[in-house]
Amino acid sequence: ATPMSIMVASGRGANAGVLIRDAEALERFAKVDVLIVDKTGTLTEGKPTLTDVEPEGMEAVELMTVVAALERGSEHPLAEALVAGAEERGATRKESSDFEAVTGKGVTGTVEGRKVALGNAALMADLSVDTGALSDRARALQGEGKTAMFVALDGQAAGLVAVTDRIKDTTPDAIRALHDLGLRIVMATGDAEATARAVARELDIDEVHAGVSPEGKGDLVQKLRGEGLSVAMAGDGVNDAPALAAADVGIGMGTGADVAVESAGITLVKGDLGGIVRARRLAEATMRNIR
Ligand code: ADP
Ligand code: MG
Repeated sequence: ATPMSIMVASGRGANAGVLIRDAEALERFAKVDVLIVDKTGTLTEGKPTLTDVEPEGMEAVELMTVVAALERGSEHPLAEALVAGAEERGATRKESSDFEAVTGKGVTGTVEGRKVALGNAALMADLSVDTGALSDRARALQGEGKTAMFVALDGQAAGLVAVTDRIKDTTPDAIRALHDLGLRIVMATGDAEATARAVARELDIDEVHAGVSPEGKGDLVQKLRGEGLSVAMAGDGVNDAPALAAADVGIGMGTGADVAVESAGITLVKGDLGGIVRARRLAEATMRNIR
């Protein structure tokens, strides 16, 4: 690529909210075959809201009081949704201690002398909590694209809470356009399989990988690259840093943590997939002019 054409492309990109790090990133992006996208905050708004509270053997407001006490210690978007939802439902403010975040699984701690665990099926399995009939309810909620989380008190299942995260208005059109530009779209998420599939169905995603850890997302990038494919990864969180760094082109969503954006070849200021469509068109046009 000539310095001039790259400069022109960079200027056009910047006007459209697409920041390109260097000529190599643009050249590589023109050749990308597969785009891996994080679900939460990339395909969806990343601002979940509480939809369901299903206690077992207590009032909903009591369950939410315990949930909120614990989640006030967490910075996860899910935690924010649960605290806000609890306050709307009249939960009392209580303190927690021994707070611990279990990456990709949930949180644990103590509230009023009781051990509390809140998170996915993997967390409950780690703690040998029998979720019984709640598992069926969780799967039903996941089938609606919701994220369901189990609550355990002193090792016993005490209920279920679920949140939903709206798909961004711009996502469906962007996916169609990216398909037209010849890209295969792969979703990688830490969320449950059933939730991921429900969202993917609405969006014509080609391939779904659910329950994936941050390292797992990086491994997926490596695996596809090992198959001779050129891979771009788009994500918004600290969680996605290993995958962004491993990809031929890392695409940081501007709304995310600085660490994610740092390892990105392309940064989208507005943080929606429409920016990826613009970046790809720009990359292709620039490479055409040079050849
Ligand atoms: P994603 O890839 O969608 O950003 P994460 O790896 O952050 O997902 O989380 C995976 C799963 O772990 C969540 O879907 C949720 O079930 C559970 N989880 C993580 N953090 C929390 C939390 N603070 N409270 C409750 N559940 C959590
Ligand atoms: Mg995420």
